[in-house]
Amino acid sequence: MRTIGHWIDGKPISGTSEATAPVTDPATGEVTAQVALADVADTRAAVDAATLAFAQWRDTSLTRRTQVLFRFRELLNERKVDLAAVITAEHGKVAADALGEVTRGLEVVEFACGIPHLLKGSATENASTDVDIHSIRQPLGPVAIIAPFNFPAMVPMWFFPLAIGAGNTVVLKPSEKDPSAALWLAQLWQEAGLPDGVFNVVQGDKVAVDELLDNPGIKAVSFVGSTAIAEYVYRRGTAAGKRVQALGGAKNHMVVLPDADLDSAADAAVNAGFGSAGERCMAISVVVAVGGVADDLVGRIAQRATTIVTGDGRSGADMGPLVTKAHRDRVVEYIDAGEAAGAKVVLDGRGLAVDGAPDGFWLGPTILDDVTPDMSVYTDEIFGPVLSVVRVETYEEAVSLINANRYGNGTAIFTNDGGAARRFHHEVEVGMVGINVPIPVPMAYFSFGGWKNSLFGDSHAHGTDGVHFFTRTKAVTTRWLDPSHGGLELGFPQNT
Ligand code: NAD
Repeated sequence: MRTIGHWIDGKPISGTSEATAPVTDPATGEVTAQVALADVADTRAAVDAATLAFAQWRDTSLTRRTQVLFRFRELLNERKVDLAAVITAEHGKVAADALGEVTRGLEVVEFACGIPHLLKGSATENASTDVDIHSIRQPLGPVAIIAPFNFPAMVPMWFFPLAIGAGNTVVLKPSEKDPSAALWLAQLWQEAGLPDGVFNVVQGDKVAVDELLDNPGIKAVSFVGSTAIAEYVYRRGTAAGKRVQALGGAKNHMVVLPDADLDSAADAAVNAGFGSAGERCMAISVVVAVGGVADDLVGRIAQRATTIVTGDGRSGADMGPLVTKAHRDRVVEYIDAGEAAGAKVVLDGRGLAVDGAPDGFWLGPTILDDVTPDMSVYTDEIFGPVLSVVRVETYEEAVSLINANRYGNGTAIFTNDGGAARRFHHEVEVGMVGINVPIPVPMAYFSFGGWKNSLFGDSHAHGTDGVHFFTRTKAVTTRWLDPSHGGLELGFPQNT
């Protein structure tokens, strides 16, 4: 059986730990490889390589760093279909969706190609007589990126193009469920001319994560995953004196007002609810039907959802399997619990059989109507192809429901009323808002991040937040003229 190892100092490394975890093809259920699980020594080797490389990389000219970024961008663009295939084989998402993931990551690389401009400081002449001040942004050092399974390429790319462009070095800890995309990216960096040790990959689980959080060599941590782990990572990393941004889970609501175009709302609910089998942090998992719109809306959503073909992501299907058998079984338990609590199963994905692949981790699109906020199918992040419909009478009830929710990643409203839309984006307590757009993922030059339990820390991902996260400011005050200025004066300077 093939073992998937680490990438440290520009080389594939198997490491000292003998612990491994199985990697499966979710469409067949077959174990395709074992992934190495780093011990403390393996993780330290990656941090040491990143520390050594930092001394030179931070002093490499911006011109040279930018040339490497541009080359990486070109290679990634040429070979993105190959990376998408690597993702589908371990994650299960369909080929077109995997390609979409790579493309969104590529956009961050393109944004980072403008790093010389993004790093420009500011200068003030004659702040005091003959005294000038300028500020610059400098890299932090080795930084860690800890990624979730659901975007094995895009999520690391939210962070590492800017981190590397700004002069930091990186240790990436991918999800143990789909570890190969990170190694593919590491090899591409090498081909693009990135010096050894600037980008390292350490495979593993909690052992590797804890060492990255505690190791004084790591200066900042970008984490994406479930809320419980995000909070843990934030607390432990900041207690160790590090800068931490920890993006957590989500429960995204889509409000449909009575004046909305119901066909486009139904299309949006289906695309955003069942795309990537609901395994997206920006997936819509709750449709909030306002006023008398529910029966008509649910009918249109169900009619569309029944046409979705679930199958192997390499076969042209619309929706793939879930990532593991354990996760599929957990999602089924939520559907069972929702039904037992009184939700009406409008479309049932349980028991779906896919021809020729009886052991795949299948679950078809599922729609639950009459869901109430006390049901676990509503309160918990399910992360599967399950759309819950909550019926409310008024716009105010819809907003109160969203604002009372512990998560605040994304939300959307469907309406033709500009005033209602404006009011919604003004008062809703969520970090990313769509107006007639179901998955409002900001472009790379804006920042990505949620509110409440969807993000711990102060900085969102990419955009100017990302540049600031991976740099620290230095302000330099200078005087060249009149060295005798003022003579001896022990008082605090009063600028003149
Ligand atoms: P997860 O929290 O299980 O794992 C995320 C990372 O943490 C992995 O690298 C994993 O190895 C590590 N990890 C797991 N348990 C740990 C522990 N006890 N101690 C230390 N590290 C641990 O998340 P997942 O299942 O891989 O990903 C899905 C979750 O990620 C969902 O909750 C989803 O909403 C969230 N997510 C959020 C965003 C966002 O932008 N907010 C984006 C993508 C995914």
